[in-house]
Amino acid sequence: MAHEVERPTYEVVGPLERFDERDSMFAREAYLPGTPNEKEYHARHPELVQSDRRLARFIQDKIDSPPEEPEDPLNEAFYETTFGSVAPLAQPDAVDGPVDSYQVQVDLDVMSRRIKAVARRLGAYLVRIGPLNPAWVYSHRGTRPFFDHYRANPPLFTGVPDGYQGLKYGDSIEINHKYAITMAFPQSARLVRTGPSLLNDFETGRVYAVSALVAVQLGKYIRALGYPARAHHLRNYGVLLVPVAVDAGMGELARSGYLITKELGLNFRLVCVTSDLPLAVDKPVDLGVQDYCKKCLKCAENCPPGAIPSGEKVVVRGVRKWKLDEERCLLYWGSQGAACGICQVVCPWSKPRTVFHRLVAEIATRVPQATRFLTKADDLFYGAEYKQEPLPDWARLGGASP
Ligand code: SF4
Ligand code: SF4
Repeated sequence: MAHEVERPTYEVVGPLERFDERDSMFAREAYLPGTPNEKEYHARHPELVQSDRRLARFIQDKIDSPPEEPEDPLNEAFYETTFGSVAPLAQPDAVDGPVDSYQVQVDLDVMSRRIKAVARRLGAYLVRIGPLNPAWVYSHRGTRPFFDHYRANPPLFTGVPDGYQGLKYGDSIEINHKYAITMAFPQSARLVRTGPSLLNDFETGRVYAVSALVAVQLGKYIRALGYPARAHHLRNYGVLLVPVAVDAGMGELARSGYLITKELGLNFRLVCVTSDLPLAVDKPVDLGVQDYCKKCLKCAENCPPGAIPSGEKVVVRGVRKWKLDEERCLLYWGSQGAACGICQVVCPWSKPRTVFHRLVAEIATRVPQATRFLTKADDLFYGAEYKQEPLPDWARLGGASP
């Protein structure tokens, strides 16, 4: 692959610290005042009490005043369809399981090609294989289990089945696999452009669900070949997917805090499978994203709550990078009652996969001097400001607002 380099383009400036999932926004929004997890967490992080109270307000309000009936029942039911369907795939025997006693022996390159081909046949759009850096393994489980009854109690995700044996909140995480197979799945820009909306939630959840199934299937395939493998997806992550994907050469870390790929821009979802199956690894890539993002501020300028930085990179757990203000992002989602996704579709790299746009992406990765021109051209053709699209006709049947 063109653009391959020896080292990823993020800058390591100190010891890398593992991420504790209990610090994630999706953990912190569930620290309802007085609950055991909240007391334990805020005893360690008193500086976060005020901001976590703001985050928890959206859940607390739903508990205090549950709506008597849904405002938009035909579209609100999508939660069960997409996010709810992932529930069985979060079980420990779905993401992991017994390894076949017969161990297939195949040449590394052949095995890597076979794994990529299988992943694509299962539905992945992009597949890359990298080494698993132990620094990207979460230190502790932090998010809530995700099982049935989402609609009845969003977003607390109760309904944990009897006999659940998986990792629970606060458990430490140990994953010693050598390799990570990262897979990307595109989202419909048309539906994401309705965001913040229930239809953007639908598209996000749909892609999360499809990708979770593929990760679970690929993990099962590798275990049937006689090697350990663990799937990582929406409801059961054990590793930080973005740096894992960067190490595998899927793309680069962008200003928005997400991964830019040459093929899909920012508009996709990631899953991965970690494993000890011997594989030939791909190299990281330099697509020119660090320079491009320095000059292009389109995501920052279009982010409604100003969560994406327009200034310089900062050091986060040993890596110098642009730091997304996740708290502002999630508070905005809460205020809208739906996920946003604007940054994913305004990015000039997130364009339809036509011959023309593939050519433009190729120029962007090879001619840094063209950055400003390409950003301006994108503004000219697609507009400098995000324009929310109406819901498609099929999603308005039955009276949903446009
Ligand atoms: S999802 Fe929306 S609020 Fe969050 S960073 Fe992107 S543009 Fe900003
Ligand atoms: S919109 Fe511009 S600054 Fe933001 S991630 Fe995309 S290229 Fe980088």
